[in-house]
Amino acid sequence: MRKYNVAIVGATGAVGEELFRVLEEVDFPINNLVPLASSKSAGIDIEFKGKNYKVLELTETVFEEQDVEIAFFSAGGDISAHFAHFAAEAGAVVIDNTSHFRMDADVPLVVPECNPEAISEWKNRGIIANPNCSTIQMVQVLKPLDDIFNITRVDVATYQAVSGAGKGGMEELVNQMQDFFAFKLDQCEPKTFAHQIALNVIPHIDVFLENDYTKEEMKMVNETQKILGKNMEISATCVRVPVMRSHSEAITIHFEKDVNVERAVEALKNAENVVVLDNPAKKEYPMPIISTDTNETYVGRIRKDINRDNVLHLWCVADQIRVGAATNAVRIALKWINQEA
Ligand code: NAP
Repeated sequence: MRKYNVAIVGATGAVGEELFRVLEEVDFPINNLVPLASSKSAGIDIEFKGKNYKVLELTETVFEEQDVEIAFFSAGGDISAHFAHFAAEAGAVVIDNTSHFRMDADVPLVVPECNPEAISEWKNRGIIANPNCSTIQMVQVLKPLDDIFNITRVDVATYQAVSGAGKGGMEELVNQMQDFFAFKLDQCEPKTFAHQIALNVIPHIDVFLENDYTKEEMKMVNETQKILGKNMEISATCVRVPVMRSHSEAITIHFEKDVNVERAVEALKNAENVVVLDNPAKKEYPMPIISTDTNETYVGRIRKDINRDNVLHLWCVADQIRVGAATNAVRIALKWINQEA
C-alpha cells in the first residue's frame, strides 16, 4: 500500500496530540511524519509508534521542503488562513480543523458518515474543512433520521467541555478547582473563558454577533445546513460546562411527518459510528465519562414530544477532540486516499 508524507500543524495542541494517537490506532499509511508548531515548541520530541520526531517550526516553505502530501491543520483559524495555501500549492491535500474555510462555497465541509461524496471537491482549492466539533456529533445523529422522516427544524442546547477551548481551557478548570480546595477561588482571574468555569456554567462560547447569537451557535446552524444540504430551521444555545472532555447536546427535532420512535431508534442503531445507549430503567444513557477517549457518538433519552407526534427529543454525547476533530479528520483522510488511489 502506498504511504504518505503527513504533516500535523499544531502538533503540540489538544487536537494535534490526539491526531497522533488516532493515526497510530488506525495504522495510517505514513511514510514520513512532520510535526509542526510555533517557534516556541520547535525542537521538542514527539513520540509516534516508538520513534521520536522533532517538532519543526511552521514556515511558508516547510511543506515543499518536506514533500508533504497530507497536511492536518489545527493551530487556529489565523494560522490556516495564512499557511494552508502554501501546503496546497506544494501539492498536499489540507484537512483543516479550524473554522476558517468551512463556509467557503468551493471548500467541501465533510463528515464522512453524512456527505463523503463532497470530498471529491477538494481539488477546487486543495482544502477539505472539518466541521465544528458540536456540529459533527449532531449531524451524525440527524442524518439517519432526516433520511426517513425529513427534518424541518432542530433546536439544540450544548453542554461543551473545557477542552473544546484547547489546552488552555483544561488548565484553567484544573487551576480553578485547585484554587477552590485552597479557599482561593474568589481570587481567580479567568483567561480562556469569560467567567470562572469551575463550579459554574457559562452560556457564552466564542464572540456574540449582531443577531444576539454567538459565533459558535451560528457555526452549528450554518454548517449543519451545508453538510445536510438543506435549509432547515435550526436554533442553538451553546454553553460551556466544567467537564474536562466530551460535549453533550440536548436536541429537539421536528419532522415533516409523525415520527415512529421504534423506527427512529432502529435507524440510529444502524448508523455508522453511532451507539444507542438508552435504557433509563437501568440508568443507562450517554455521559461524557462514557464517550471520552472513544470514536463513537452516543445517543440516548430518545423520546417523543409530550404534545406533538412529529417531534423527537434526544441526548447526544461524543468526545469532541476525537469525533469532533481528530477522528473525523483521519476518517476524511482515509476516504480521500481511497478516492485518489
Ligand atoms: P491548543 O491546544 O491551544 O493548541 C494550539 C496549537 O497551535 C499548538 O500546537 C500551538 O503550538 C499551535 N500554534 C499556535 N500558534 C502557532 C503559530 N504561530 N505557528 C504554528 N503553530 C502555532 O488548541 P486546540 O484545541 O488543539 O485547537 C486547535 C484548532 O482546532 C483551533 O482552531 C480549534 O478551534 C480547532 N478545534 C479544536 C477542538 C477541540 O476540541 N479542542 C475541536 C475541533 C476543532 P505551540 O505549542 O508552539 O504554541
